[in-house]
Amino acid sequence: MTKPLIAITGASSGIGEATARAFSSAGHPLLLMARRLDRMEALQLPNSLCQQVDVRDREAIAKAVALAEDTYGPVDCLFNNAGIARLADIGKQDPLEWDETVDINIKGVMNALHPFINSMKERKTGTIVNMSSIAGRKIYPDHTVYCGSKFFVHAVSESIRAYLAPHNVRVIVISPGVIETEVLDHVTDPNTLKAYKENKVHIGGGISASHVADMILFAYQMPQNVLIQEMVVTPTRQEF
Ligand code: NDP
Repeated sequence: MTKPLIAITGASSGIGEATARAFSSAGHPLLLMARRLDRMEALQLPNSLCQQVDVRDREAIAKAVALAEDTYGPVDCLFNNAGIARLADIGKQDPLEWDETVDINIKGVMNALHPFINSMKERKTGTIVNMSSIAGRKIYPDHTVYCGSKFFVHAVSESIRAYLAPHNVRVIVISPGVIETEVLDHVTDPNTLKAYKENKVHIGGGISASHVADMILFAYQMPQNVLIQEMVVTPTRQEF
């Protein structure tokens, strides 16, 4: 095995799945983590260890990482991607959806970072790609807690970047606009969903997750002394 190990959270669909395919095509062994094990196994990517992991479970992440590193050596890149989008009118939204968003998009991001901060620092190399959103840069209607969670990802990325930069570790944050995935499948507010879908038609549809994956692979493949700190990608016709 010549190429280093890549770890991806939320690898069972959408952008995580597309990124798994892209890194696999580039010859990397993979640690794939998500709750739907069947979806990751169905990808049938060579040299991939698929682990049923909920990012709310810090211990499960650590175990999966240790198992993969036993076989493939240290993780050189974490794609910290798992996330949900429970968009809704904040005045009507069930606070349980706030809890879920905070637990997965905020605490889950920290849980996934945890095994790598010191190990990459000690090895004096590594790349962390944190998944934010265009909603981590500006606010949108009905995105209240989601925006909060992605603004959090931006703040943490900047802070961890400053912390790890002296140790030659790169921290990248990627902020996509409308990408065609399953992320809106669990939105329960019909008005929010209607408005989102109308806007999507208005802008000519979302773009493919494979474009986001290609960008992540490109940034990773830059030499270790080159850091693309932030990437923002939207459909061309997405005005806001
Ligand atoms: P998908 O719904 O297709 O993918 C989300 C992934 O996250 C799935 O693999 C899912 O796996 C995983 N996931 C969700 N909750 C958990 C959990 N508790 N533990 C482990 N894995 C979890 O949507 P996307 O690909 O679009 O989403 C990926 C990321 O991209 C998210 O962070 C999202 O916020 C972000 N994003 C998406 C945009 C878009 O337009 N699509 C735009 C901007 C950002 P499983 O359910 O099997 O656990």
